[in-house]
Amino acid sequence: MLAAVLHDFNDLRLEQIPIPRAEDFGDVVVRIESCGICATDYKAIKGIRRNVTFPSIQGHEASGVVAEVGPGVSHFKVGDEVIVQPLGHCGFCKHCRVGNTHYCENAFVLGGDGPEDVRNGAFAEYLLTEESTLYPKPASISFDAAAVTEPLAGAWKGVIHHSRMQIGDDVVIIGVGSIGLLCMMVAKAAGAARLVAVDTSDYALRNALELGATHAVNPTKEDARKRVYEIIPDGPDLVVEAAGPIEAVKLMVDLRRRGTRWNVFGITTHEKFELDGGLTHFLEGRQDASFGTTTLAMQKAIRLMETGLVDTGKIISHRFPLDQIREALEVMASPEHNKIIINP
Ligand SMILES: [Zn+2]
Ligand SMILES: [Zn+2]
Repeated sequence: MLAAVLHDFNDLRLEQIPIPRAEDFGDVVVRIESCGICATDYKAIKGIRRNVTFPSIQGHEASGVVAEVGPGVSHFKVGDEVIVQPLGHCGFCKHCRVGNTHYCENAFVLGGDGPEDVRNGAFAEYLLTEESTLYPKPASISFDAAAVTEPLAGAWKGVIHHSRMQIGDDVVIIGVGSIGLLCMMVAKAAGAARLVAVDTSDYALRNALELGATHAVNPTKEDARKRVYEIIPDGPDLVVEAAGPIEAVKLMVDLRRRGTRWNVFGITTHEKFELDGGLTHFLEGRQDASFGTTTLAMQKAIRLMETGLVDTGKIISHRFPLDQIREALEVMASPEHNKIIINP
């Protein structure tokens, strides 16, 4: 099969390698139809993220068709159309048993990072995984849109499950690249009143306005706090940082009024920010955070797509066959892109 094998940072090679076999209990081989490129993949390939082993195959936002099932597989058969959750969980540890499958003590990940057990991902024609990571793909969802299930699940988990957004809330999303747009689309579907997109890129802000933001704010051109409080004089009910840079977290802290919920969602690096203890006390600052997805979030995301509440297809800006993955990575490096899909 054709696979994009990462031999070292900045050394991604298209190679013919053997198709993996479903030999162990619960194994399933999926023929990959679509796999999204995540910033995590980009950072691994370019060496921005250092916790990568070689050789490895990246790519963790995948959908496809079951090609082979191993012993003990009872819920899927060859030919089934499936969505792959990149994080495998055991179902038995204390975290799994309360539904926090993203804390699983025996987890593995396909083509990403987090757990110690990192397996090959889906920038390849076939992927070896376990039955527990698969969800049936509804026929009404395209493979490309279905590849965006995992990030949508993350957005649902952050905005709804952890931050408990409610109908009529005034919401600010800082950072409206693909994950921020998904947070925004979830907030829209959940009945956000004013929905303010904040981003330093006018391209991203244009996308946000097209997909339902009521207002767009560019902090490089205006005083973001002042502008947000012109739009929402009472201050936001919820602020979600889906950007990454520490400046975005600091802006979120500045945007709080009494009772604002704020969600540290996008940053994964370890810069520090300051909180005034007394102010946080008197603001009754309610801080949330969210990373990864759970089995509950995956199922909610599939339902959102299936019923048309969120159309993940709308955030796809580019598609490339696997043999053009290098061209796709060049587009990733440019400012004018949204979700990019690889079709092996
Ligand atoms: Zn991802
Ligand atoms: Zn577990």
